Amino acid sequence: MTPTTLFYIFISILIVSFIIDQVLDALNAKHYNDVIPEVLNDVYDTEEYQKSQDYKKTNYRFSLITASFSIITTLAFFFLDGFAIVDGIARDFSENEIIITLLFFGIIMLGSDIITTPFSYYQTFVIEEKFGFNKTTKKLFIIDKIKGWLMSIVLGGVILALLTWFYQTTENTFWLYAWALIAGFTLFMNLFYSRLIVPLFNKQTPLESGSLRDAISNYAQTVGFNLDKIFVIDGSKRSTKANAYFSGFGSEKRVTLYDTLINDLEEEEIVAVLAHEVGHYKKKHIIFNLATSVLLAGLTLYILSLLISNPLLSQALGVAKPSFHIGLIAFGILYSPISTITGLIMNWFSRKFEYQADDYAKNTYKAQPLITSLKKLSKNSLSNLTPHPAYVFMHYSHPTLLERFKNLSK
Ligand SMILES: [Zn+2]
Repeated sequence: MTPTTLFYIFISILIVSFIIDQVLDALNAKHYNDVIPEVLNDVYDTEEYQKSQDYKKTNYRFSLITASFSIITTLAFFFLDGFAIVDGIARDFSENEIIITLLFFGIIMLGSDIITTPFSYYQTFVIEEKFGFNKTTKKLFIIDKIKGWLMSIVLGGVILALLTWFYQTTENTFWLYAWALIAGFTLFMNLFYSRLIVPLFNKQTPLESGSLRDAISNYAQTVGFNLDKIFVIDGSKRSTKANAYFSGFGSEKRVTLYDTLINDLEEEEIVAVLAHEVGHYKKKHIIFNLATSVLLAGLTLYILSLLISNPLLSQALGVAKPSFHIGLIAFGILYSPISTITGLIMNWFSRKFEYQADDYAKNTYKAQPLITSLKKLSKNSLSNLTPHPAYVFMHYSHPTLLERFKNLSK
């Protein structure tokens, strides 16, 4: 294979994945006006339904513009030998391969962040604002940006430096060391994310004693679940959208409820949502997801190790001197069709798990408050009630509201 052929394989992968995304989005958009299933008729009143229609259409138009802009800039970057230029800049500063890798990815990420920030600003302060979701101030937006940057520099920098160093010193067995590092990091983050990272962005307070806490404890006791770490997070400082999630395991397991969730739902509904989360834990979904992502990382790193030292990768991107960072970029593009497929499989499992967690909540608590909570949450986030099945298959990690309703009312 010649470098030019490989270059055009990269370009084809980028264009085909753009087209698939756009076809699915368009297919989904064509069904915005479908008749709402009768059992979901009570989700919206006429005015709210109109608002949800506007919200979907606005988001669709906006994503079409951002995706088109992104594919055009990406292709321009490829055709103008952008990677060779950035590689040259990084090499002007240092001869050390680790520093070159860090500078290379630092410049690429800074550049792409500068380009995408106006879009995320528009999304937050124009679209989300218009539909009443946004609670973020401009000051908070900037602070979040800076904190996010510092976090990527510290965490991303350490991991990238170690990966480059492993590659430099161990060559063929590099993937094993890299795998151990990624696995350790994944496990560590799963256990301590809520304690170490979340506090940088949000305030978490233990759920105060009272009837809600009692109701939750009573339920937890009936299923023999030790649930002493229940936290309320101040999600309302950024958005009115609500959520609840489980994190960690063993003695680090905890439940986090958004303050918006507590405001939007009745006590019974919150317990039902929690019962669903306990279901995920009891059915071992959390361990399954963790184990699968570690195994997938191992597979990816192994394939990476087979390809990365091939000089063809860097030549295809117009860079004469092969290096770890250029190999990583080339591999990332070649691997993206495979990661799309593994993503599909993971989404399929995730939707199965949602049914299992819903069943758990139904069997150990009640189905009705879970149904009404799902309807309220859909209404409050102006969700699409009639998504296209192909779109659901590709993108949804949760079954649709209609499917969950049917399963819960069985
Ligand atoms: Zn769930």
